[in-house]
Amino acid sequence: MWYNKAMKGYKVTNTAQLELIEMSSVVLSGQVKIKVNRIGLSRDDIFSYSNPQQDKFILGRQCVGLVVETADDVTNFERGNRVIINPFLSCQQCSECRQGNGNLCNDLQIAGKNTDGYLRDFVISNSRNLYLLPENVSDSEAVFVEHTARALAIIHKMDMQKGDHIVIIGASIVGLILAQLVIYYQGVPIIIDARESHLEMASKLGICYTINHIKSEPYKKIISITGGRMSENLALMGSSGISLFNSLNYVKRGGNVVIADAYNYKDNDSGAVPVIAEKQISLHSVSYGIKQFMPAINLLANKTVVVSQFVSQEIEFEQVPEFFAKIMENPLEYVKVIVKNK
Ligand SMILES: [Zn+2]
Repeated sequence: MWYNKAMKGYKVTNTAQLELIEMSSVVLSGQVKIKVNRIGLSRDDIFSYSNPQQDKFILGRQCVGLVVETADDVTNFERGNRVIINPFLSCQQCSECRQGNGNLCNDLQIAGKNTDGYLRDFVISNSRNLYLLPENVSDSEAVFVEHTARALAIIHKMDMQKGDHIVIIGASIVGLILAQLVIYYQGVPIIIDARESHLEMASKLGICYTINHIKSEPYKKIISITGGRMSENLALMGSSGISLFNSLNYVKRGGNVVIADAYNYKDNDSGAVPVIAEKQISLHSVSYGIKQFMPAINLLANKTVVVSQFVSQEIEFEQVPEFFAKIMENPLEYVKVIVKNK
């Protein structure tokens, strides 16, 4: 039968090429076989491809598919279930995992980054790493569960009150989903970025306050938006290119700052510490939002979070190698590329 054939997946080679490799497709105890429907290409995938000196893994982190086979001892999923696969695989053995804090795992494996990812035609996964999708979340929407989960984790760190301002530095996908959640929780998002196309997406999503920090001075605008109080909360996206030190200008005394991911931070933020102390700012960080996958699925199902505008392009599984070469010519042109597997 078709699902007993060897599985195929794209792995990066030493020379920044993609090689389609074959894997065995035996389903062991506790495991489920999934036919992949959609894979979102992430920033880590592009990084792995363009830095072939890194360890080599099959790419692909955001994966949606259909259960086609289950081991006899799997009772929580059955053939025909549509699922997303958790890309953050905790070790289940370290002290944090044993206390139920898999999000703080000392040996966290991330699909496509430090273990094999899901850019394949079929995936075999432990059933504990699967989340069932309701009918009203499409395959393409489900690619954004991870981003929505991270945005939720940021909101929870802030302890936001109704009417609070939140400065979001970086109109990335997570930043734009966070802004939607802030509006849902009756806060006021202020989004800062230099990319006009991303600020336009923000405006289309109903975010009233967008600031291009190259064209205008955010500090003065935030003074006027907040009536001189400055923002109660600030979330700093790693891809924004704005330092933590400069961000602190936009936060009121006693405010909250969340560093929203660990990417691209430079060593030029040492001056931030005295300002954080003097302004009595609470500093938090969020890496992945691992615990928020279930509520994130709900927010996509009830359309509190809208993601369709983030899809730059959908490509076929066979087009992946040619498309990776094309992405590298201008990576900033794409917000999210989704691979379809027939
Ligand atoms: Zn662990």
